Amino acid sequence: MDNRSFPWETIVLATRNKGKIREFEQMLAGYAASIQTVEHYPGLPEVEEDGDTFEANAIKKAETICAATGQAALADDSGLEVDALNGMPGVYSARFAGQNANDEANNKKLISLVRDLPPGQRHAKFVAVLALAAPGEKTMVVRGECEGEIVLFPSGEGGFGYDPYFFLPEFGKTMAELSAKEKNKISHRGKAIRKLESILRGRCI
Ligand code: IMP
Repeated sequence: MDNRSFPWETIVLATRNKGKIREFEQMLAGYAASIQTVEHYPGLPEVEEDGDTFEANAIKKAETICAATGQAALADDSGLEVDALNGMPGVYSARFAGQNANDEANNKKLISLVRDLPPGQRHAKFVAVLALAAPGEKTMVVRGECEGEIVLFPSGEGGFGYDPYFFLPEFGKTMAELSAKEKNKISHRGKAIRKLESILRGRCI
């Protein structure tokens, strides 16, 4: 990001997910805006993610946090879509194994469902939809995707969520085996933020 890309002094990340926050802070580093999270604003409403699409949830999160803080808000709704599971867990990725499920429980459920599939049928993709809502502006929405395959055994310590089980054939590694810099370069989230940046570059706000 360069200093001209974002026309707001402050951007609030509309998420409590530590993995996402870490990646956004890396990708937005060196950039003039002050990056805050919802933790800077005690008492903000919890946003119920009740949409059927990543887009609906991302827009709802960004617009709610923008309205409540008066600041530009960047939301990410993301997840894993497995072809052989008809796109599940999809928008339910964070709560695949139950409302308060952690990454370990979600991964366990995923593997139990793909275990019996032949190796060639474990194609999946990560999807990230970002929504940027700013006071007086039309909300901007972008999508990034990253394709791979689910493996039955975890590898790597990096990233978060389903990363240790998401194999990238062109790298011969799971997402969790990539460095943070490598992941941000090829990930769904990295692709989405670069699309957002190019939209912002083309605007004169
Ligand atoms: P959200 O908060 O509803 O957007 O939930 C996103 C969920 O999707 C996370 O909790 C992870 O389980 C999964 N997810 C999203 N992005 C990634 C990623 O980059 N790596 C691994 N898992 C991810």
